[in-house]
Amino acid sequence: MQFKLLVDVYEQLEKISSGNTMREILANFFKTVPKEDISIVAHLTLGQIDSQYEGIVLGLAEKSIIKAIALASGQSETKVKELVQKKGDAGLAAEEVLHKKPRTLVPVGTLTIHLLYETLHKIAQTSGSGAQEKKTSLLASLLQKASPLEAKYLTRIVLGTLRMGVGEMTVLDALALAYTGEKKNKEILETAYNICPDVGEIAKTLAHKGLKGLEKIEIHVGRPIKMMLAQRIESLDELTKKMPGKVAVEGKYDGERVQAHKDTTGKITLFSRRLDTITAQFPDLVKHLEKHVKAKEYVIEGEILAIDKKGRPLPFQTLMQRRRKYDVEQYAKDIPIQLKIFELLYLDGKAQFQEPYEKRLAQLQKILREGEGVMPADRLITDDLEKIDRFFHEMLDQGYEGIMLKSLSGEYQAGTRGWNWIKWKKEYAKDLGDTFDLVVVGAYHGRGKRSGMYGALLCAAYNRENDSFETVCKLGTGLTDELLEELPKKLAKYKVGQKPARVHVSREMEPDVWFEPKIVVEVLAAEITKSPHHTLGLALRFPRFLHFRDDKTAEQATTTKEIKEMKNKK
Ligand code: AMP
Repeated sequence: MQFKLLVDVYEQLEKISSGNTMREILANFFKTVPKEDISIVAHLTLGQIDSQYEGIVLGLAEKSIIKAIALASGQSETKVKELVQKKGDAGLAAEEVLHKKPRTLVPVGTLTIHLLYETLHKIAQTSGSGAQEKKTSLLASLLQKASPLEAKYLTRIVLGTLRMGVGEMTVLDALALAYTGEKKNKEILETAYNICPDVGEIAKTLAHKGLKGLEKIEIHVGRPIKMMLAQRIESLDELTKKMPGKVAVEGKYDGERVQAHKDTTGKITLFSRRLDTITAQFPDLVKHLEKHVKAKEYVIEGEILAIDKKGRPLPFQTLMQRRRKYDVEQYAKDIPIQLKIFELLYLDGKAQFQEPYEKRLAQLQKILREGEGVMPADRLITDDLEKIDRFFHEMLDQGYEGIMLKSLSGEYQAGTRGWNWIKWKKEYAKDLGDTFDLVVVGAYHGRGKRSGMYGALLCAAYNRENDSFETVCKLGTGLTDELLEELPKKLAKYKVGQKPARVHVSREMEPDVWFEPKIVVEVLAAEITKSPHHTLGLALRFPRFLHFRDDKTAEQATTTKEIKEMKNKK
C-alpha cells in the first residue's frame, strides 16, 4: 500500500477534534487496507513502527534528520535548520523545502508503507561506527521518494511527534467497526488487547481469523500482558461484602511494578507498568532472579523497592533515580533494590493467570527461593478483620503503603481494575482523603511570587469509554520552588499550540498553555464535589501534588468512572 493513502487520512484527522468522527474516518480507511498491511497501518496510525514494548529506538540525532531533509531537497543544511527553528516543527519545514525542490531532483520511485516500515527498522538496527551517517542516508532515501506532504508526516513519525490525537482505544474501536460492523465487539478486542497489547497483532488476527481468532489469543513469554489493578473500598468492614470468607492479605509496596519474563533460552526481560522494556536498568535484578527463581520459563510480577542498609524501603523518588541510561552499574551499587514477588502468570509452557489465586500462589511458592534481592510479598491468609487491621499496621510500621486484599478464588484480570484485588492504604484509614493519578493537560502562568513560571496545572482523568480526558482539578498546592523550576523543562516536550483532540475542557478552565496528555501526577485530595466548571462534572477539593508518576501512561491514570463511583459512595 502506498504511504500517500495513509497521509490522506492523517490530513483529515489533523483537522478534526471529535472522537466519533475520528473513529468513522479510521474505520472507513481500515476497510480499504489490504489484510497483509493492516498490522503496519494500525501501528502507523499511532505514529509507531512497532508495539511499544519492543522498545524500538531510531537513534537519529536532530542534526541527522536536518541533514537528510537537506539531502533530499537539495537545500543547504543551514537553510533547513533555520526553517525548522522558524516553524517550530521539522515536519512543516520538510514539507516546505520539498515543495521548492529543484526539478532536477525527481522523486525516486513511490513510497510504500512496507518500504517505510522496513527502512525505519533498518535505521533502528544500525549501530556502531558511522551509524549516524548510515541512518541519515537511509532516511534521505525515504525522503527522496516522498511528496512534500508525505515528508511532513514521515519526519514527524521519525521524531516521534506525530500527534493525531488518536489513542489505542480509538484504533480498537475503529478496527471493531471496520471488521465486524459493530462497535460493541470492541469488548472482545479489548480483552484480547489486555493479553496481547499490540494493536498490530490484534488487527492482523482480526483481519485473518476474525473474532474467534481473537478469543484464542494467548499469553506469550517475551510479550507483556497488561497489568491487573486493584479496586478500593471505603472501610475495611466493606471487605466482608466484597470478598466473603478467607482472603489473602499482602503488603502494598510503593515502588515500581515489574513483570519479569524468562524464556526457555534463559533470557530474562523486565517490563514496566507502561509496558516499556526496563531490563537494562536493573541488571542486578536480573541476576537476583536468575539465582532465586527456579523454573525454565515463567512470567511473574512484583514490586521493585529501593532499600536502605537495614532493608527498609526508601521513597519511590529514590527508586526513580534507577531509571537511567548511563551509570547504571554505579547506581545499582548506590541504590540497591529488592523485589517483592506477588504473582505468577505463566509457568513452563502453561498460562496460569486465569487459574485461582490460591493455585497460582502454590506454584509460585514452589519456584521461589528467598534470597538476596528477591522476597515473596509479606502475606497472611485469614477471614478475621482484626488480624487484617493488625497486619495493616505492621506493614505501615515497616514503611510500606498499606495492604492488598486478594480473593483466593479470583483470577488475574489482565488490564482491569478488578474486584479480585482490593487496596487499603494509610490515607484511607486516616481519612486523609484519597490519591488520584491525573494527567496534566494544561498550565496557567504564575503571578506574584510565581510570575515567569507556571502557577498551576490543569489536570484530567481518563475516560476509557470515549478515549478522552476530562478535567477535574486545577493543581497549585504542593508544588515546591524546585519543582516549579523543573516543570517547564519537563513539560516542554509535550507543549502544543492548541487543545489536543482527546482533551475536553470548559471555557472557564481554558489554560494558558496546552499539553499533549502524557505526564501523570499523583494528587492527594480531601473530597470530591460537584463542579460546573470541570468537564467531568466533578472536582477534587484541596488537591495537593505528591509526585510525578513517570511509571504510568496517560491511559493508566485514574478513570472518570472511578471518580464518579467514589463520589456516589460518599
Ligand atoms: P494503585 O497504583 O494505587 O492503583 O495500586 C496498584 C499498584 O500497587 C500496583 O500497580 C502495584 O504496583 C502496587 N502493589 C504494591 N504491592 C502490591 C501487591 N502486593 N500486589 C499487587 N500490587 C501491588
